[in-house]
Amino acid sequence: MPAKTYRDQDADLSLLTGKTVAVIGYGSQGRAHALNLRDSGCKVIVAQRPGGANHRLAIEDGFEPLSAAEASRQADVIAVLLPDEAQAEAFGRDIRPQLAPGKSLVFAHGFGVRFGTIEAPEGVAVTLVAPLGPGSLVRAQYVRGSGVPCLVAAGSHGASHAPREETSVTRNAMNALGTALAYAKGIGATRVGAIETTFAEETETDLFAEQAITCGGLTALVKAGVETLVEAGYQPEIAYFVCVHEVRQIVDLIVRGGLSHMRQSISNTAEYGDYTRGSRLIAAETKAEMKRILAEIQDGQFAREWSDEHEAGSPVFRAMRQQQASHPIEEIGRRVREMLARNE
Ligand code: NDP
Ligand code: MG
Repeated sequence: MPAKTYRDQDADLSLLTGKTVAVIGYGSQGRAHALNLRDSGCKVIVAQRPGGANHRLAIEDGFEPLSAAEASRQADVIAVLLPDEAQAEAFGRDIRPQLAPGKSLVFAHGFGVRFGTIEAPEGVAVTLVAPLGPGSLVRAQYVRGSGVPCLVAAGSHGASHAPREETSVTRNAMNALGTALAYAKGIGATRVGAIETTFAEETETDLFAEQAITCGGLTALVKAGVETLVEAGYQPEIAYFVCVHEVRQIVDLIVRGGLSHMRQSISNTAEYGDYTRGSRLIAAETKAEMKRILAEIQDGQFAREWSDEHEAGSPVFRAMRQQQASHPIEEIGRRVREMLARNE
């Protein structure tokens, strides 16, 4: 069954008429949602802690930043757009005490709801409007008259698996979905499409993809590739070009027309190498590891590990960030980008 997709005509922005939407956190997503909703005619208030660039930006954009507690008190719809690892604490302290039946929560990622660090009181709608792109793009596309598609869900589907069956029915869930779709329309997402999902499906697939493919898998793949060539004595810049830069062209072709379309554009030699070598690399062993990574997401092990790390002040995270930033591949990349800039 293809995923159910909602567009502008399926969403009723008037569900937000007379209501106040609080955007909590004026970061990547927060700023884009606040500006788009305001331009769509919604009454928007912003919560942003003082002292940093985002606070100044909110003021420059014409908002008067409030505390999270005050904004949650005034609002009917509360969009929690803080970093996932900071949400549990801020939610318990500032937001939850201000909730009452009839209010709605909006999240842009299901992490806290899915793993139970965020629980709303009875009568509060819990919704998900997760844009499939960074905040800068959510804003830029809106201004252009288009939008970034999103995933929508209503109701807190804590349990994993069988996501489709969970989406059926109570009146509350219908109202919650209506609110989610109105919000999705307000940020411009239904101009392109809001795809129905559940908190569990969105959270688990998103974490899996970023760990195994788009972030973890890809960076490990290109790093191992560059290292293999450099260790064999090839010039680092050449290694970087072929293993890192060319990824973009291939990915663009795949996104535009699928794997076969990409394969029509590359040489027959490349295509034959693709068929005969790729499956040697991503073999049964790699897929077995992918299944273990997915299982750690589904059973909450990854979420506990990341929450514990945040509570401990992120020592491992910060050490790894520093270590990875000083990997030799980054120095090679700097030289390659410099070279390209000079030739522009
Ligand atoms: P950002 O890191 O860009 O912004 C976070 C905001 O929260 C900032 O305004 C920051 O303020 C504030 N903040 C951070 N820590 C605290 C804290 N402890 N207490 C109070 N305020 C705090 O977040 P994102 O926009 O990237 O993420 C928000 C949500 O959107 C997340 O759930 C994320 O998963 C989701 N999402 C993000 C996407 C993306 O591409 N970025 C894509 C889709 C979903 P300050 O400036 O003072 O630090
Ligand atoms: Mg993601």
